[in-house]
Amino acid sequence: MTSSPSFRIVEIFESLQGEGHNTGMPAIFIRLGRCSLACSWCDTDYLRYQHMSIDDIFQAIATYTAKNIIITGGEPSIHPHLEMLLSALKVKGYFLCIESNALHTISPLIDYIAVSPKYCYEERYEKDCIAQADEVRIVVDIFKIGQPVTTEKKVSSQYEPPLAPEQIQLAQARFIAWCQNMANKIHAKHYFLSPLEEGGQMNILQTIALIGQLNARNEEEKHAKETIKPHWQLSLQTHKLANIQ
Ligand code: SF4
Repeated sequence: MTSSPSFRIVEIFESLQGEGHNTGMPAIFIRLGRCSLACSWCDTDYLRYQHMSIDDIFQAIATYTAKNIIITGGEPSIHPHLEMLLSALKVKGYFLCIESNALHTISPLIDYIAVSPKYCYEERYEKDCIAQADEVRIVVDIFKIGQPVTTEKKVSSQYEPPLAPEQIQLAQARFIAWCQNMANKIHAKHYFLSPLEEGGQMNILQTIALIGQLNARNEEEKHAKETIKPHWQLSLQTHKLANIQ
């Protein structure tokens, strides 16, 4: 007799998708613990979880009415036995979405893949990035403040972004080039930039300005090289604005 695997569950709840192409879609969120990155501005307590079996998970979602499930994290794709959970949910007829950092292979059982590559881990994406998704959402962290705090940084006091206009321009140009690089690496139907939230503030103005620059540049290149370039859009975490989970 084989024992049923357990899953690291941070939380399970029913709500509306708050961001990206499926904004407003009713969904059951299954948030799995642990991540392969450690972005300093991460808003998820992915190390606080309990162990649940597939039966426990089905019990937790039994009264929910949504037919879509969003598997999120942390980084859900690194979870052992994820395939078993996905298969069990698929048999029940759920439409399965995943939210991933784009560094790990995604199960073919997933119906909709939303990935969020992290600029603060730029080097990792040169080696390990997946090639296909439905949507790409990039947080506008042009100074890479999401990098995990190193001993060096801790000793040399708090990290402060450079503020000279030319340094900001250079950082923006590098960020734009990286977004284009990601769009070349990850083929997707939709591309979004999301504001970075830090200390209760969102850099919305910087985000929309960068979307304008990305799209203007893509228009120019499209005419010059006759290639199809993505149209970038704004994705806000509207669940936070609407005060829902
Ligand atoms: S990849 Fe996502 S879940 Fe993981 S640390 Fe970064 S923001 Fe948090």
